[in-house]
Formats: sequence, C-alpha cells, structure tokens
Amino acid sequence: MKIRTRFAPSPTGYMHIGNLRTALYEYLIAKSAGGDFVLRIEDTDQKRYVEGATDIIYKTLKRVGMNWDEGPDIGGKYGPYVQSERKAIYAEYAHKLVELGGAYYCFCAHKEETEDEDDENPVVAHAKIKDVCRNIPYAEAKKRVEKGEPFVVRQKVDKKGKSMFHDVVYGDIEIDYDELDEGVLLKSDGLPTYNFANVIDDHLMEITHVVRGNEYISSTPKYNLIYEAFGWTPPIYVHVPAVMKDAQHKLSKRNGDASFQDLVAKGYLPEAILNYIALLGWNPGDDREIFSLQELTKCFSSNRLNKSPAIFDITKLTWMNGCYIRNLSADEFHKLAEPYYVNIKTAINFSALSAVLQPRIETLNQIISETDFLSAMPDYSLSLYENKKMKTDTEIAKKALQLVLPVLCDVSEWTNENLFETLKQIAADNEMKNGQILYPVRIALSGKETTPGGATELAYILGKEETLKRIKDALHKLG
Ligand code: GLU
Repeated sequence: MKIRTRFAPSPTGYMHIGNLRTALYEYLIAKSAGGDFVLRIEDTDQKRYVEGATDIIYKTLKRVGMNWDEGPDIGGKYGPYVQSERKAIYAEYAHKLVELGGAYYCFCAHKEETEDEDDENPVVAHAKIKDVCRNIPYAEAKKRVEKGEPFVVRQKVDKKGKSMFHDVVYGDIEIDYDELDEGVLLKSDGLPTYNFANVIDDHLMEITHVVRGNEYISSTPKYNLIYEAFGWTPPIYVHVPAVMKDAQHKLSKRNGDASFQDLVAKGYLPEAILNYIALLGWNPGDDREIFSLQELTKCFSSNRLNKSPAIFDITKLTWMNGCYIRNLSADEFHKLAEPYYVNIKTAINFSALSAVLQPRIETLNQIISETDFLSAMPDYSLSLYENKKMKTDTEIAKKALQLVLPVLCDVSEWTNENLFETLKQIAADNEMKNGQILYPVRIALSGKETTPGGATELAYILGKEETLKRIKDALHKLG
C-alpha cells in the first residue's frame, strides 16, 4: 500500500512552529517511504479565515523545500483539496451516516454549537449533550429535512464501555465512550465541522497516516466511530506532544511567541528552523544534530518520535542557525546579507564586510547591530581609548593616529594584509606594541571596542577615503 500523508492547516494567517513541525513529520513519513504528501486546506470555519493565509502556507512549505504531490494549486486525483469546495461531498456522507445510524438530525437550531477547532485549543469542551432529537424516528426526521426545516447533523454515540485505539507515539489508548459528546458534524449552513470533515477527507483521499497534536487524542474515538459506521479502516494515528515555551506553557502565537515568519524576519534561515524543529520530538538515535531535509528523509523513522513535551529553546536554535550561516558559501552568505546593508550609504567594500561577518554572527539581523557604525560614525567617548590590556590611553592614541595618518595617505595597495604589515611596521619603528597602534585605529574607525574584524579589516572595508576621514576626525576629537 502506498503511504499517503496530508498536511491539513487551517488558513489562519501565519505558520505556527507546531504546525510546521506537524507538516514536517507528515512529509517525512511519506517521503521516507516513497509515498505521497498531500496539502489540504481546512477552511470550514469561515470566521477564522484570514485573507492571504493560504499563500503563507504555500510560501512557507516551498521555502523549506517541502513540496507537495497534490494540493489546491496543483490538483490531483483526490481533489478538490480545499474543504469549502467539498461541501456537497460532506452533505452526502452526513446523510448517509444518519441512515447508517451513526448520526441523527437535530432541529434544535438554538443549540447549534460551532465545534470547529480553535488552532491552539482545537477541541472545545462541550457538555455531553444527549439531545432529544436523537429519539425522533429516522423516517420522521428525514421528512422534516426534506420539507426544508433547518437542521444540523449530530453524532450518535450509542456504545458503552471503552474505546481503544493504537497510536504510534502514545501506544494503546483507552477512552470511555461515556466521555464522548454527541457533537455537531454538519452545521445548518451545510458546512461540516472539523470532527466530520477530517474523517471524510482522510478516507476519500486514502490517507494512511495522520499526524496531529495530542489535543486530538480525546476526540479520536469519535472519529473511529464514524469510520466504523461507514465500514472504513481508520488511518494510523501519530499524535505528537505540543511544542512548549517552558514546562507549563505551550508555544503560542497569540501570546507573542514567534511564528515561522517571525523567526525568518529575525534572521533565522528556513533550513535551520526546519532542522531545529525536526528535533523537537524526534531524534535520530545518535548524537547527530545537523540535518538537511534530504538527510532527514533518509534517516527518519516514526518509531523515534517522542512523547515527552518538547521545549522550544531559542538559544539552541540560534546556535544551530550560526552553524548554518558558517556552512554557507561566501557568495550565498553575501546574497543573504545584502538586504541588511541597505542603510549603509558609505561606499564601502561590501563583500569584504560579508567575509568578516559570516564567521561571527548567529542570526542575520545581528548584521544590523554589527554594522551600525558603518552608516554613521557613532558619537563615542574618549575613554574608549583607555585600555589596560592594549596599553593605550588618549595620549598614546593621539600619538598612534598621528603616526598612522601620513603613512596611510601614501599606501596605494589598500588590502587588509598590506595595511596590517604597514601598521605593524609603524609600531616596530616607534618601539610601540602592535596593539598600541591597532587598537586606537579600531576605535577611530568604529567608535566601538568590539567590531567585526580588526583595525585593518575595518580600514579595508571602509576604503581609503573614509578611513582617512575617520582618523582625521578622531585626531580632531583627541585635540
Ligand atoms: N486543520 C487542523 C489544524 O490546523 C488540522 C488538524 C489535523 O491535522 O487533522 O489544526
């Protein structure tokens, strides 16, 4: 049997980290077995629909390289892949389910609940309603429906005892049938609730494995009752624990925690984010940590999914992002860094700048703070020239810069190596330590104690004209 998984997001406007991780596990289960990965948009809760959200889903998946084999944009033989376009299908199956005894028509319009999932609290708790309508004989209820009376279709839970099912991550699970409510499956507007649509679609789309958050575990027996009533086989269930912010709190966009887009905007590379979230709840069984999507596909096995809650550790992600940045080629890094240079109006050597930044930063937006002195020389305090380790003070700095200025004016080969040799020579000629020349130059060029690259790298990046200008300004400041 061909493995088929689906990612079934609701278009709510952003890509939650937990959602992306679910998508990744769905993708890996399919692709590690040569199967199909399907994208389905679950938009039956029209109140939560956000314009443009589907686009964010497409873009995010593409950006991390998780291409789907079937989906709303590319079609496929199980379409349509947008739930709001499948209304007629749900209606047909809802009526069939009533006929089969797995549901009933309910005419108490005032009691209609909206049972749609809420992205971070998907299965809203309901009182276990045993509605009076469940006792209306089928023939009579059907007549009322045919006459045009407004109705909803409500699930019927007649079983007693324990429902059992197996989950790949959580093992065997038992839930008392008494705990299940008879919730709405088809609303009066003809749209299904999540609790109905997911079953119909997963069955019709021949989905073999369903990965979703563990908050769906308690509803799974309800889904199984629907599968059973139709005589269908349920998929293999893979429930995953929530991604946590700390031991008590779920990671939640609503509480200001970062979404995938937020992290990208903060200078994290999509590949690094994907690598990091793969390890939030899965491990390869050894101590490897860096994986491309392709490598993950090769070594993924759902047996290694973990049921202990995964805490999202930004420090670890930042470290991993640094590894990804360092692994880029110089050209790749330069391309990614360039948009961060827009505010640097000084004509500097940008590729030299990229070369000093790449080994130094862990997120791309550190480029902004690392390079702020390039767009405008900061107003710095003269006390910066006092440095015990470098054996400098304002007097020494003044002397150093006075020695450096005329020599640099005459340098024609403006390279880091040549500048470094030149400044070292000045130190030697004047019986000064290298630091007593280099450190004041660094301060004069940047107004900062720590900079990307040393004094001569800065001079090389800034170019001759700007370097001389900044040294003259420093001398002026030093009086
Ligand atoms: N639309 C649901 C969500 O976004 C999907 C859950 C599932 O994968 O079945 O949470």
